[in-house]
Amino acid sequence: MNKVITIDGPAGAGKSTVSKALAARLGYVYLDTGALYRALAYKAIRNRVAIDDPDALAKLCATTDVALQNINGRMTVYVDGENVGGKIRTEEVGLAASAISAFPVVREKLLSLQRNAGERGGIVAEGRDMGSVVFPDAAFKFFLDADLEERIRRRTLELADGKGKAKSACVARDMQARDQQDSQRKIAPLTASPDALIINSTSLSVDEVVDRILERMAAAGQRRPNGRKPNGA
Ligand code: C5P
Repeated sequence: MNKVITIDGPAGAGKSTVSKALAARLGYVYLDTGALYRALAYKAIRNRVAIDDPDALAKLCATTDVALQNINGRMTVYVDGENVGGKIRTEEVGLAASAISAFPVVREKLLSLQRNAGERGGIVAEGRDMGSVVFPDAAFKFFLDADLEERIRRRTLELADGKGKAKSACVARDMQARDQQDSQRKIAPLTASPDALIINSTSLSVDEVVDRILERMAAAGQRRPNGRKPNGA
């Protein structure tokens, strides 16, 4: 049966790479929910909307059409009909996304979109509150983490890939600011659900993380409803 699998964690923990690889292995759809927050933040920056003003953000939400479309197994974000995928991967947009994501009006606007995408299952949903808020009944929940230095290293490489340059000192500063904002906000803070398996990916390859996830899913599939394995273990 097609299931919802959630992968939460901080920036640079490897969520996107792992989620994409896992979705490909299972033939599931990949949903990057950070892209939704980034897309709204991108419009806010472009239209000079104050990202700390709840009224301005409420107006932005009321006048912006955000949509998801499945393109080759990946949910792609459209803002007012425009595919903004290529424009939202900067740290500026990431920080703005983190700022606006603390406002209830923003989270409410994006909630039903995410839930609709997962309605039929067969999805790997990646973000900060997938297991805790958006898909509390998900079949499998994972929380991916990695040491700060490793997360900075990965993010610096990723940005360098896309834009040609990225200073790790700036990446470190922005990442720590984002970590702090995301984990300390009042609504839907970054947190591991009590029923999520926490995986520290610091010294693991992408394939090793995906294998661990699949092993966990297979092991759960062998358990009886009473929680015991067939051999009584
Ligand atoms: O995952 P990504 O780094 O693209 O997310 C950008 C920002 O969007 C995060 O720093 C976080 O503040 C916000 N976000 C969120 N809830 C999610 C996904 C992302 O608040 N489910």
